[in-house]
Amino acid sequence: MAILAEYHKPQTVTEAVQLLRRTDARLRPLAGGSQLVGALETRALPDVDGVVDLAGLGLQRILATGDLLRLGATATLSDVGNHPVAGEVASGILRRTARYEGPVNLRNAATVGGVVATAEADSEFYAALLALGASVVTSDGARETITSLDEFVIPSSHHLIVSITLRVAEYRAGHARIARTPSDRCIVAAVAVIGDGVERVALCGVGERPRLAGGALTPPDDWRGSAAYRTAMAKIVQERALAEARG
Ligand SMILES: Cc1cc2nc3c(=O)[nH]c(=O)nc-3n(C[C@H](O)[C@H](O)[C@H](O)COP(=O)(O)OP(=O)(O)OC[C@H]3O[C@@H](n4cnc5c(N)ncnc54)[C@H](O)[C@@H]3O)c2cc1C
Repeated sequence: MAILAEYHKPQTVTEAVQLLRRTDARLRPLAGGSQLVGALETRALPDVDGVVDLAGLGLQRILATGDLLRLGATATLSDVGNHPVAGEVASGILRRTARYEGPVNLRNAATVGGVVATAEADSEFYAALLALGASVVTSDGARETITSLDEFVIPSSHHLIVSITLRVAEYRAGHARIARTPSDRCIVAAVAVIGDGVERVALCGVGERPRLAGGALTPPDDWRGSAAYRTAMAKIVQERALAEARG
């Protein structure tokens, strides 16, 4: 187990960001811990002195106001799937893709903010957020900034993701994936969202992070699939996801 010299549980976002700004200790935000704790235990992150637990910040709420849905950064994937609006948006695509992030005990811990911060290349939940046209709200402790998820790169370790926002409209969604087994992490996958003048497809497994379809792909070339295989399969899952969304 990594030896952490400090553990903090602030009650406000401003206090949390002030802690992350400290120059005398290297502190990391801790959300569900599903990725961070493993990285600390295996010492994949050796330069961390402590963590700033986000659980006390009141960021776990999911709010549906008019056609705007706001997913608090520390809402868990299970919270999203079980929410009457978030779980049903676009034929239930967030609930459906959350299942592929991991088993239920992981979904009970892993948070929306954690998924966006880690931006794993095979995160189908992240791809669903992209296809839904989501935006990311970050805070530097004083003010909030909103950025399209498609363009989002976490500005620095001194910024916290506080929520993810998206419009709720008459969307339909489709999802297609290729994996070694039905419940394994995908090799490539696509999520399509159509309706209300929108047609967006997001792809997994074809670059460093999930991305919207269109333009040249830069797939990895590894033991799970060559770059050529992933490029060919991306076209197929894209067509399948769109066909499902079109019904
Ligand atoms: C068994 C297992 C299976 C997994 N399978 C998958 C999978 O299939 N697909 C997939 O995509 N991922 C998978 N993961 C990775 C992991 O579950 C996700 O990345 C997870 O969603 C991280 O969320 P968390 O809330 O647990 O974040 P944490 O582990 O707490 O944090 C992860 C990182 O994000 C940062 N962070 C968290 N919240 C914020 C915030 N609000 N603002 C700024 N930075 C923040 C942390 O500092 C840390 O660097 C798996 C992990 C495990 C252990």
